[in-house]
Amino acid sequence: APVIGVLGLQGDSREHLAALRAAGAEAVVVRRPEELASVHGLVLPGGESTVIDKLLRVFELREPLVRRIREGLPVYGSCAGMILLADRLLDGTRDQQTLGGLDVTVRRNAFGRQVDSFETDLEITGVSDRAWPDPDGAAAAVAPGPVHAVFIRAPWVEEAGPDVEALGVVPAGPAAGTIVAVRAGNLLATSFHPEITGDTRVHRLFAEIVRAA
Ligand code: GLN
Repeated sequence: APVIGVLGLQGDSREHLAALRAAGAEAVVVRRPEELASVHGLVLPGGESTVIDKLLRVFELREPLVRRIREGLPVYGSCAGMILLADRLLDGTRDQQTLGGLDVTVRRNAFGRQVDSFETDLEITGVSDRAWPDPDGAAAAVAPGPVHAVFIRAPWVEEAGPDVEALGVVPAGPAAGTIVAVRAGNLLATSFHPEITGDTRVHRLFAEIVRAA
């Protein structure tokens, strides 16, 4: 069975591990190059992208990770993870680098400061049309419906290349129409944090991408 890694340098890796396991996937923490080499997919968690960027270099994970992304490794980036996947970054710190791979321009802290964190329900292509938890599981399935999305100092996708599919936009309010979920091939990214809501559908979508790769 495919094994999905969760980058465990900084951020909410524990919540992603739990969400992946609840989605039926085998999941392990990745902190060393040997661990990265053994996984079939990787989650870049939420946290602080500037810190994760620095630690990727300290832990000598940056180069092998950039290489594996180029080779087609499935990667799901949530919040700070979306920033790390972006080819182009706005409002990063002066020396901040991304890994790249996803043909998007992402604006960091786009919705404002910490006090501007917010929650909203979203339609996400390939996600909100699923029942959950897993219909095969023992627990009573919840009918398909919008994803309850939690945004914490979140980035947004300001511009997306021709091969990037926008999976979801903010439905209302001052940021209405802003892209907050994207997919391009094996790369998936969300501005929000499905790992903290108990809704495993985004992780199930990612596990399917990993299985198909
Ligand atoms: N603002 C953070 C950053 O710049 C992202 C926040 C998050 O991951 N919840 O990396």
